[in-house]
Amino acid sequence: MKVLVIGGGAREHALCRSLSLDPDVTSLHCAPGNAGIAEVATLHAVDPLDGAAVAALAGEVAADLVVVGPEAPLVAGVADAVRERGVAVFGPSAEAARLEGSKAFAKEVMAAAGVPTARSYVCTTPAEVDTALDAFGPPYVVKDDGLAAGKGVVVTSDLEAARAHALACDQVVIEEYLDGPEVSLFAVTDGECVVPLRPAQDFKRAHDGDEGPNTGGMGAYSPLPWADPKLADEVLATVLQPTVDEMRRRGTPFSGLLYAGLAITSRGVRVVEFNARFGDPETQVVLARLKTPLSGLLHAAATGCLAEFPPLRWSDDAAVTVVVASEGYPASPRTGDPVEGLAEVAEKDAPRAYVLHAGTRLDEEGRVVSAGGRVLSVTATGTDLAEAREHAYRAVSRLRLAGSHHRSDIAAAAAGDV
Ligand code: AMP
Repeated sequence: MKVLVIGGGAREHALCRSLSLDPDVTSLHCAPGNAGIAEVATLHAVDPLDGAAVAALAGEVAADLVVVGPEAPLVAGVADAVRERGVAVFGPSAEAARLEGSKAFAKEVMAAAGVPTARSYVCTTPAEVDTALDAFGPPYVVKDDGLAAGKGVVVTSDLEAARAHALACDQVVIEEYLDGPEVSLFAVTDGECVVPLRPAQDFKRAHDGDEGPNTGGMGAYSPLPWADPKLADEVLATVLQPTVDEMRRRGTPFSGLLYAGLAITSRGVRVVEFNARFGDPETQVVLARLKTPLSGLLHAAATGCLAEFPPLRWSDDAAVTVVVASEGYPASPRTGDPVEGLAEVAEKDAPRAYVLHAGTRLDEEGRVVSAGGRVLSVTATGTDLAEAREHAYRAVSRLRLAGSHHRSDIAAAAAGDV
């Protein structure tokens, strides 16, 4: 199978790494990719948001399968453009990607499908904002109704800060606060059949102890030793299947990766948000544990054949990912600094630990330099979370990037280290 992956972050590096180890994959391409992906795939300088250009590239490389990584190309209709060309694509249509692209739309679908989520109001006027904030009380949860890379949400007990964020958005969703730990559960679907992957947890705040600003994600781990082993089955029955059925009923079937961000509250599981693609950095740990070759699974979802696909096989290993971010991330990341120590990790820590690249590029001298906020996703496996943590942090300690920061408590509580 010839596969083309769209995107250039650590999630796409994780996808490309799994596909490069997959015996069914004969050639692997990525656009635009990054310095790490270049080691396992042929890179193409094509704009991932340009549907016509991506479809043309799929034709040029004779792709049997296109996998769209990030949300922005999906919302822009890139999967539709590829599908129209007759190429199998893993990723929803622009219409179906509205499950992620509009929080108000997601709420409407959940209500119609009877999916448990926070009670909410969609507000467009200051008076509606005040009524909604007053109805729920603190802590206030205020969400910009659009794509904001995980940064359009404000959770605060400060009424004025909540109101200010709400008034800065054209349309805003104000909702009930959900207590309890969060879980990310991914499911692969062809629009009808739904196959849940293993649950993971990510760390959204920039600093240890969940301090500091929200980020795209600073680390992740899987499995979740504290979670109910039946969680995935329960969420399949109460959230994932009803949502996929409702999307099909509306004439906008959702195929690709449905990501349920869940809160395990004292009153049961509630959906915090849906995403229409693999999550970053949870993908890094989920794929580290998946033994089933990835290309067959994604191709079956892209071609409507998931019902016949054999049950997924999983490693018993635990996996941990630690994100190394550039100085100033998330507010104003500094870029252009050399990344050192990569060869040392490859030599001393592989295969238990490996470095997935996010914001990196090769400079004129062929050195790897930082090119974004999240620069590296250091991923490791172990017989349990404590061992996976050890492997991951040992690898992190070999890496050098001026001014960089990472969290030191990824999976610590779950591993029993704190
Ligand atoms: P979202 O973009 O909807 O995933 O929100 C980003 C983050 O804000 C979530 O991962 C949660 O940590 C937090 N959050 C969102 N909605 C709620 C809620 N209703 N109650 C508590 N925290 C929330």
